[in-house]
Amino acid sequence: MTMYIGTRDKNITASASEAILRGICPDGGLYIPMEIPKMDKTPDELMKMNYQELAYEVLKQYLDFTEEELKACIAEAYDEKFDTKEIVPLVKKGDALYLELFHGRTLAFKDMALSILPHLMKTAAKRQGLKEEIVILTATSGDTGKAALEGFAHVPGIRIMVFFPEDGVSPVQKLQMTTQEGDNTCVVGIKGNFDDAQSAVKGIFTDKALEEELLARGYRFSSANSINIGRLVPQVVYYWWAYIQAVKQGEIAWGDKLDFTVPTGNFGDILAGWYAAQMGLPAGHFVCASNDNKVLYDFFRTGTYDKNRTFHVTVSPSMDILISSNLERLLCHMGGQDKTKAEMAALQKEGKYQAEITDKNISGEYATEAETFAAIKEVFDKTGYVMDTHTAVAYAAYKKYQKESDSKNPMVIVSTASPYKFTKDVMTALDNKYEKEDAFVLMKELERVSGVSIPTPIVGIETRKIRHQDVCEKDSIKDFVKRKLL
Ligand SMILES: *Cc1c(COP(=O)(O)O)cnc(C)c1O
Repeated sequence: MTMYIGTRDKNITASASEAILRGICPDGGLYIPMEIPKMDKTPDELMKMNYQELAYEVLKQYLDFTEEELKACIAEAYDEKFDTKEIVPLVKKGDALYLELFHGRTLAFKDMALSILPHLMKTAAKRQGLKEEIVILTATSGDTGKAALEGFAHVPGIRIMVFFPEDGVSPVQKLQMTTQEGDNTCVVGIKGNFDDAQSAVKGIFTDKALEEELLARGYRFSSANSINIGRLVPQVVYYWWAYIQAVKQGEIAWGDKLDFTVPTGNFGDILAGWYAAQMGLPAGHFVCASNDNKVLYDFFRTGTYDKNRTFHVTVSPSMDILISSNLERLLCHMGGQDKTKAEMAALQKEGKYQAEITDKNISGEYATEAETFAAIKEVFDKTGYVMDTHTAVAYAAYKKYQKESDSKNPMVIVSTASPYKFTKDVMTALDNKYEKEDAFVLMKELERVSGVSIPTPIVGIETRKIRHQDVCEKDSIKDFVKRKLL
């Protein structure tokens, strides 16, 4: 079990419990494992495990919990909330394997981590003897918000506030959040984009004066964003799971390389895959897939990260991000704290920096809007499988990577959302005639063409009561939080 260390200062250390409760380092850096642990089970042992057992073997390496505590967290997280016993199916369609991470309650891969995070946090608070009420502040590009609300609603001793870009999420995503039940929940639309929301939230976390003020009132902030290591480490599990399923399905033999393409926004999902590889998973190449907001693609090609560019609102909103926070962790693993600190200072000051990723097993590709639509249509025409818009970006990126590389490894497309969250764009990709149709009417149509039933959690969502109507300017998020709590 590893300790954690800051990405901007190696003298900042924390146990897993402390890191989970703090969310972010006091200097604004992120916590990373001091040493990435190795898997201590043999392939034969791993092949016999179900998802929950595997989760235990991975997570015990990263968390300072007792066996009993950790197993209780896992049992509460990965249960009937998921609509399949496997939790994460790996399905083959055409020449690719799809890792379906969207079988949880909110139909997006964020459920993988946010189903367990509240339990990790409660356990960490108990271990640390915390007395204060925990206030979770979350900036969301659409999916994290709902997954966090579901995870934290009704949890005693915790409150949750979610900030989402008013005009940057799909109609289903918006309703999922604004109809959220639970007295401890608060949902706010902001006039700005995800980066605005994320910067404001990060600013609140590092505001010492505000922290003191709140402590005096019995509150302590924490984060449910992927800057929290409690978000990151549960995601390592499903990369192991994918590999094991690929062996079981006869796609590879143990030891063969398996490639992954990951639709990327904040760089959390793909970083978890990279951690799995460092633990000893025989992964081959990681393709980091971006949409028109291709700051990561440009970075992997040129070594310059430059956020000074136009922000595009795309059909894959959960990837509409220009500051991919978790990249900071990879930078630190590559170059150490001093370099990372300088790079992040340059990002803050000039909006750009230069850095080298020495690990050549990770590279970038991107898909335009037209390519994303074409990918949905192509896969449907060839296989009858309907992908969501984010998964489609990954598919298009995979096709580009396949052309450029000579890799013969099987490819896993990390599938991050159900097409039901994005019916309008998905159906329009299949046929232009759907362009003017209502997003909710299209659910029925999607059910008809795909043969996959409308997932229970969103049946009838369009008629549910709206419970949250707050809207706030991007510059007044901090004031809003203060008003609510002080
Ligand atoms: C959050 C999200 C992503 C991006 O994941 P990161 O960990 O932020 O890179 C991709 N697709 C969907 C559907 C998401 O919700």
